[in-house]
Amino acid sequence: RAKDAGRNQVCVHSTTETDLPLTPLIVETMLRNALNNHDLEIYYQPKIQAKSMQVIGAEALCRWRHPEYGEIPPHHFIPVAEASDLILPIDAYVLRSVCEQGARWLADGYRVRMSVNVSSRQFMQPDFPDLVRRILRETKMDPNLLELEITERTAMQDVDNAVHVLTELRNLGVRIAIDDFGIGYSSLSYLMRFPVQTIKIDRSFTAGIQSAVNQNPIIGAIISLAKSLNLNVVAEGVETVQQFDFLRDNKCDEIQGYLFGKPVPPTSFRLTSFEASPQPRGAYALWRDHD
Ligand code: C2E
Ligand code: MG
Ligand code: MG
Ligand code: MG
Repeated sequence: RAKDAGRNQVCVHSTTETDLPLTPLIVETMLRNALNNHDLEIYYQPKIQAKSMQVIGAEALCRWRHPEYGEIPPHHFIPVAEASDLILPIDAYVLRSVCEQGARWLADGYRVRMSVNVSSRQFMQPDFPDLVRRILRETKMDPNLLELEITERTAMQDVDNAVHVLTELRNLGVRIAIDDFGIGYSSLSYLMRFPVQTIKIDRSFTAGIQSAVNQNPIIGAIISLAKSLNLNVVAEGVETVQQFDFLRDNKCDEIQGYLFGKPVPPTSFRLTSFEASPQPRGAYALWRDHD
């Protein structure tokens, strides 16, 4: 258990259900090997455009496939990596792999907007925009199809620097999304100082939606304010039909969550759904039947 393990240990809870009390140093060492051995895998979770019901994007989420302990989810190792410099090569590896995948799908005729999470530490690197530029060039990825997800917290850490970095990134043609929006207490109008196109409403707000007629006015208010500022709004963590109905009725642009699909390896990603253009209700029923 994490709380018994003390301050110098982290608990790695893997899919094999074994709790591994390991020191951050051991996790870091194992993780470094994993990176070198390509044991970090990238899964993709679909983003569905509410009005067309088409899959228009994918968020890349990394998984650590440990030979002994099975699949270790990010919240067990990303914080360890973020506490050391190891997050830098991890983020770079993920970014490159995602651009390669996006370019491959594009070559196959599928325009998929690829979203990548960028850690605060990576974002603060003075050469981060150069890294992005280099990877885009080397992978021949269309910059317009790359979206970088920066958390609200990262953006607010050093506002002047964030404005500068985000402007450089925008000049490369990539899109910027503010991740986990709403929990960092920053106002949307303040965020308008940043050249961002998208906000992703934090999962905790989605979880609060109990019915299509929602009691909690906050999420509806966030969406309508974001829309009035011309932002693209994504809701994360959508698990129920009620949540989906509420979000669509409140003009949320895109939906991401287990209702439509868990993160999966690229070979299992439903590319076929990109081409489908059925009636919205028809497609909705189809997805629902899958549940
Ligand atoms: P995030 O960027 O906010 O990603 C969304 C998380 O919510 C993912 O967790 C995803 O699997 C999960 N999720 C999606 N839909 C649902 C749902 O309907 N219900 C529930 N309960 N969960 C849902 P995951 O994959 O465990 O990743 C957790 C966090 O780890 C991410 O949060 C992100 O901050 C970080 N992360 C993941 N991959 C990377 C990476 O490659 N680089 C960096 N720097 N951070 C990463
Ligand atoms: Mg994210
Ligand atoms: Mg998020
Ligand atoms: Mg989140």
